[in-house]
Amino acid sequence: MYKHLFGPVPSRRLGASLGVDLVTPKSCNLNCIFCECGKTEKLSKERKIFKDINEIKIELTHALAEMSPDYVTFSGAGEPTLSLDLGNIIDFIKDNFKVKVAVITNGLLFNDENVRQELSRADLIATKINSTRKNIFDQICRAEDVEISDCMHGLKIFSEYYKGNVYLETFIIENINDEKEQIIELTDFVKTIKITKWQLNTLARKGAENWVMPANGETLQRIRTEIINCGYPPEKIEIIGEFSEKINKFEKNKDLVKNMLEKREYKKEDIKKIFKA
Ligand code: SF4
Repeated sequence: MYKHLFGPVPSRRLGASLGVDLVTPKSCNLNCIFCECGKTEKLSKERKIFKDINEIKIELTHALAEMSPDYVTFSGAGEPTLSLDLGNIIDFIKDNFKVKVAVITNGLLFNDENVRQELSRADLIATKINSTRKNIFDQICRAEDVEISDCMHGLKIFSEYYKGNVYLETFIIENINDEKEQIIELTDFVKTIKITKWQLNTLARKGAENWVMPANGETLQRIRTEIINCGYPPEKIEIIGEFSEKINKFEKNKDLVKNMLEKREYKKEDIKKIFKA
């Protein structure tokens, strides 16, 4: 019986990703308008212990005896760095299994030295920046008591400290953060940080707010070109595409699939791409 793990999820960025949810739904320090987990009713501002870590370790031990995902990924019903168990469980995985670990984080806590240290053994950190402008950050992320300048500082010091791969995502929303001037400002900042890849993404499923419009393919291409025209290396900026079907499919585990479908909507085609019939 799995309570904390889900998937493996067909991730467009990570391949077959076995999810671990360290927080209870929905615990996040942001309330992004595009969030696929729905609205954050009350922002969580403090790190704490959300779950029984031994239950998570037992589930991981069972699951990893039966499958070899591309990544074990900390994501799910909110922001994984809010969990005080994050470092402990990353260490448990890296000490006991030969599997890569990814953490999907909004990066708000990169200014916290403990968080940086806890993330240090992960193989990949997938994080975000959608704009360098205060009004746009406030409009998209609806943070409280957090300035975009603090997030930029945290991202910069994290990128200098961390030795693994950093995928930086920018979520493009039509008529909010897609204008040329903003893209130029954002590129000027991204040029100053050490990352592996910069990825442009847009809404693929229903977001927290119905009025949020995904950017179309033309807009994403135009933005990629503008970024390259600002001198950013073309090989490091990509538009997130479809999930690759070139993977070994997994046996379905009833609980892991149920947990996965409770978190987000998946198209039937995507389910077919990752699980055996
Ligand atoms: S998109 Fe990520 S950071 Fe934003 S509200 Fe959802 S879980 Fe939190």
